[in-house]
Amino acid sequence: MLNTFKNEYLKLYRESKEQQWDNYFEGGNHDLGILDNKIYELVNKYSNKIEILDRESQVANLIIIREKVDRNQEVSKLRNYIDDLENYGADISEEIKKDDYRYRSVMANKMKKDVLQLMKIRNALAIENGYDSYPDLILETNGVDYKELNILLHNYLEKNLHKAIEIIKKYNIIFENWFDDLDKIDRKNKDYDSNMLIEKLLNSSGFPRLMEKVEIKYVEDGFSGYATELEPNNMRMAVEPIKSLDSLRTLFHELGHVMNYGLNKEEGLFRILPFSLDESMAVIFEYIASVLLLNGEDKIRIQELMTLEYTRCAISAIYEFDLWKHPNRAEELFEYHYKKLGVEIKDTSIWALDSFRSIDPVYIHNYVMGASMAEGLIRYLKISYENDYESWGKWLYSNIYYDGWKRDFREKGLILLQ
Ligand SMILES: [Zn+2]
Repeated sequence: MLNTFKNEYLKLYRESKEQQWDNYFEGGNHDLGILDNKIYELVNKYSNKIEILDRESQVANLIIIREKVDRNQEVSKLRNYIDDLENYGADISEEIKKDDYRYRSVMANKMKKDVLQLMKIRNALAIENGYDSYPDLILETNGVDYKELNILLHNYLEKNLHKAIEIIKKYNIIFENWFDDLDKIDRKNKDYDSNMLIEKLLNSSGFPRLMEKVEIKYVEDGFSGYATELEPNNMRMAVEPIKSLDSLRTLFHELGHVMNYGLNKEEGLFRILPFSLDESMAVIFEYIASVLLLNGEDKIRIQELMTLEYTRCAISAIYEFDLWKHPNRAEELFEYHYKKLGVEIKDTSIWALDSFRSIDPVYIHNYVMGASMAEGLIRYLKISYENDYESWGKWLYSNIYYDGWKRDFREKGLILLQ
């Protein structure tokens, strides 16, 4: 039973990764709904059928529970519809499109109804499957305890919010122009040779041959970053050309994903990683890479960037948990939470435009988990091995990377290192 499920699921799972990559970067035009449907049918067939005898059958059941909600036809249809912004932007005038601020506001107002509807369907399905709510289902299938997470998020804010507020003031960052304004933290006219940096990073941490299994695609146009494993030992990474500290940080982040996939020695379902582990380790790698590669002004500024980004993520995560409880107070709660950054929120309706409310809901806290654990981990590695980065690499490999989802991030002891 377990083996047939495993083989069929992995086949569809890999196919979906390939189609996604193709759609994003190779001009593909796959209808992702078709595979969603196939996966839904498969997990439905095996729902409550695989007896939990060991870790693998436990992981199979976690996958089945989550996919039963996320690949549900209604969910998949609406999510894929929201994911294609052309569905909302087609009849917006050129004049509005030119004014980014007005455009975002118009789009958000058009999308709001669908985003709320998607939340409602996901919640109802989670409850139907025996969970208190959709966030509850996602956290549990990711091995995350809500109470523990809530403490982590608030601790992170307590330690970093005042720093973030200072950084916002120092660089005059405007909430509506957040991502463009991040470049103000940069020193201008810096060129980074990304191939050289990657080589240096992997050599010093003891994994010089990892990139042989990775194909990198450089994408222009304000794109952020993406990494995926199509098949074991066949990975793809997309980043923008490294022209700023923030794009350098993205490169480190995507490399962090590649480490997760490429150094996982497991086969089958343990090659799949829960988002909690995959994403928090990618963020941890940003911090590790900046320790290994940067110094002086660059190091200070990239740390300012990370403090700013993950403080915003912590606020976003706390807002999101609140939003799932009170979806009809979305605007009011948006202002209440984001105002903590000491910025003026001119238009609260834009909450609906944020993909973390629809495409990747109950996800953003994973970044904060990584940021919060990174500091403790680096402190531990420094005390244990000083600047012997090859030993850092060995520690990471034999404590975290090698066994994929065989243990989740709590079992790997990461939470203890905060
Ligand atoms: Zn990531």
